[in-house]
Order: sequence, then C-alpha cells, then structure tokens
Amino acid sequence: MGELRMTQLIDTYGRKHRNLRVSLTDRCSLRCTYCMPHDFAAWIPNEDLLTTDELLMIIEVGVNQGIDEVRLTGGEPLLRPDIVEIVERIAGLSNAPQLTLTTNGLRLKELAQPLAKAGLSRINISLDTLSRERFKTLTYRDRFNDVIEGLAAAKSAGLSPIKVNTVLLQGINDDEAPALLDWALENDYVLRFIEQMPLDAGGIWDRATMVSADQIFKELSLKYTLTPVDGRGSSPAEEFYVNGTASTVGIIGSVTRPFCGACDRLRLTSDGQLRSCLFSITETDVRKVLRDVDLDDSAKRAEIAARFQKTVISKLPGHGINDPSFIAPPRPMSAIGG
Ligand code: SAM
Ligand code: SF4
Repeated sequence: MGELRMTQLIDTYGRKHRNLRVSLTDRCSLRCTYCMPHDFAAWIPNEDLLTTDELLMIIEVGVNQGIDEVRLTGGEPLLRPDIVEIVERIAGLSNAPQLTLTTNGLRLKELAQPLAKAGLSRINISLDTLSRERFKTLTYRDRFNDVIEGLAAAKSAGLSPIKVNTVLLQGINDDEAPALLDWALENDYVLRFIEQMPLDAGGIWDRATMVSADQIFKELSLKYTLTPVDGRGSSPAEEFYVNGTASTVGIIGSVTRPFCGACDRLRLTSDGQLRSCLFSITETDVRKVLRDVDLDDSAKRAEIAARFQKTVISKLPGHGINDPSFIAPPRPMSAIGG
C-alpha cells in the first residue's frame, strides 16, 4: 500500500480532496418530504450493497491518497446492522481519518455510547421542527421524541459539539428558525440551516418556494445579532457568532450561495459508485473492481486508487444548479448520501 500513498486527490482546478462521504445504505426509517416520497420503493438491490470488507478496502485506499475525514451517511446509516463494527474498523485503520456521521437520530438512544466507544469523532443529527405534530407531517413517522432522546444520548456519550441540520420548507416550518436557534443555544447544539436542494426522489423541489439563505439570515437577524466567523475553509456552512457570544449558527446556501470553489468532498454510494459531487451525472464503478474474480487484493487496490483519480479528474468546477442547462442527477440524495 505504501506505493499508493504518494498520490493526492487533486482535481484539474487544484482542489485537494480530503473528505469522503460514505453512504452505508439507501434505506431510511423516516420519509422527510424534501428527501423521499412516503411511498418510495425504488431501493438499491441488497446484492449490490457493499459488504463491510469491501467498504473498508475502498476507504483504506482513499485514506492512502490523502482522505483524512470520512463521514458516514445514507439513507439512514444507523440502520446498517454492523454500524458499530464499521466505525471500529475505520477508526482502527493506520492513519485513521476523522470519523463523523450524519443521522436522523432515531437509533442513537442505544447506539450513541457504543459508537463513541468505537471511535466516532463527531455527529450531525437532523431535526427540522420542535413540534411533534409537524415532525409527523414532515416525516410521515411519529418519532419526534426518539430524535430528542437521541440528541441527549449523543451529548452524554461525549459526541459534542453536536451539530443539528435543519431544512426549512415554506409554509411548513419556515416560521421556526428563531425558536430552533433558541432551543439549540439552550441545549448547546450547533444549529445549521441547509437550503433545500433539487435532489429529492419525488421531484418536489421548486426554486420559487425554497427558503433561501438570505431569507434565513434576515429572519434570524430580527431577533439576533449575527457576526460572520472568519476562516470558512472548505466548510459548506457560513457561520455566524450569535449576539457577540462564542455560540454560532450556520447557514448552508447550497443553491443560492454555492461553495464549489473550495469543495474537498468525494462520495461513495452504498452500491460502490464513486462520485465527485452530489450533483454529478456520472459515477465511477468500484464495486465491479472489488468483485472481479481475476484480480488479487493488491491489483484491486491499485485499480480502486486509479478510479479515485479518475473520479477527481472528472470533477466539474461547480454544480451548475443555477445554469439553465442544469440536469438533476438520476439518483436522489438518499441513494447518493447526503
Ligand atoms: N438520514 C440521515 C439524516 O437525515 O441526517 C442522513 C442522510 S440525509 C440525506 C443527510 C442530510 O441531508 C439531512 O440533514 C437532510 O436534512 C438533508 N437533506 C435531505 N434531502 C435534502 C434536500 N432535498 N435538500 C437539502 N437537504 C436535504
Ligand atoms: Fe431519511 Fe435522512 Fe432522507 Fe429524512 S433526510 S428521509 S432521515 S435519508
């Protein structure tokens, strides 16, 4: 493996890629309306999902090319039965990357402690409303209390700073921005609003009704003084200090304030396809390499490394959502990994 270490994942625009988002499954325990329709059924076939050994080989090859953060996501990553083992094995790699996870939080009550013990560094938990009724309307599941308990479990497991991801939808929860921030500050969670993106399986996204970063900023500014935090780096969130304190709130303007110029992320889908962007319309197949019976492990690693390079080289300068010629990717966010 030493021979592969020298190669870095640098694209034709000079962006160095250090962050790999790994989707562990496309299945989910919620049906957030902006993500998938309540009757969604177009799941990836089980036999196409990567095994844990296959996942580990790809991640290790990535780490040997300079990946230093791996974010586990989905679908709902905590539905993967061997999630604790996956975390433990990634954390046990030599040159282990920072290991983070994005979850809807439903299974955290039982899993936060084992995940922290297995080597998880940080966690993002998604919650869009403080109302149990609205949660039910938004997700088609009556599981609000499980998320709240999951958040508390993550905190007591020492997974702080806990980031909370919120998507605002016009006429549904867009009146909750200040209340959500009050709640996050009280509980010591770091709140980040994400603009709704055209990546849902049901195709409900509409530019005319999406709640923009500017709107969120204006709404919060009615109640709080927000001061920009310098040094954003490759972070998708624009961060603001709240009322002159050290507490911050983030706004991720993926659509109206794209941050592609500093992007350092690559993505691996649960069926073994490498992607250079959430919005890519092409993918590089690494599952095929892993399952090629004519290759030994060393040949597989070399070919996977080459496919990482191919993916990076193909990366476009930006996602192009705002171009008239924009084409949404054929897969929804839940199958790519958010
Ligand atoms: N199930 C996990 C969760 O909800 O945190 C992880 C996967 S989910 C796809 C990751 C993040 O993407 C969540 O914070 C979710 O709110 C966000 N998301 C899903 N669909 C989105 C969309 N169309 N636009 C913007 N964010 C979206
Ligand atoms: Fe599931 Fe996350 Fe999509 Fe909600 S946003 S449906 S929790 S994958």
